[in-house]
Amino acid sequence: MGARREGAARVKRVLVSACLLGERVRYDGREKGVHHPVLQRWLAEGRVVKVCPEVEDGLAVPRPPAERQPSGRVRTNTGLDVTDAFTRGAAEAMRLVREHRIEVAVLKEGSPSCGSGFIYDGTFSKTQLAGQVGETTRLLRANGVAVFSELQWDEAAAALTSAGD
Ligand code: SF4
Repeated sequence: MGARREGAARVKRVLVSACLLGERVRYDGREKGVHHPVLQRWLAEGRVVKVCPEVEDGLAVPRPPAERQPSGRVRTNTGLDVTDAFTRGAAEAMRLVREHRIEVAVLKEGSPSCGSGFIYDGTFSKTQLAGQVGETTRLLRANGVAVFSELQWDEAAAALTSAGD
């Protein structure tokens, strides 16, 4: 029993966007819950650490949509500069990474915080910028975290294995 408890305590944790876990934290008050077998297994194993960088910093639900502008600032569709809130939310995600020694994350694609393969171009016209990432993903990757999207559960699981799980 003691050995099993010790093993469980050392299980590698994974950071996952709260909206992918069914929490209604998106800007539009909705969620994007998924039921992929990899996620279900991670939940059963107690690996999942959830985060919503935007709500962590106190942004409301619902809230106006925001996109990074060509200037690098993040603004809502009404022009409000929310860059600082997004930066603090990313820092909170990074705090969780350090606390739980996380090396792998699965975050919601396309989000100005969580996007890892694309974000939107700042015109609020649903125009994607491939290869651009959200504020939280940028900070996590700069600190060595492997960040995947909800389209890459198997790749994330492989990365976890490679990390020595
Ligand atoms: Fe989901 Fe990330 Fe947006 Fe929060 S900030 S609602 S976790 S995509």
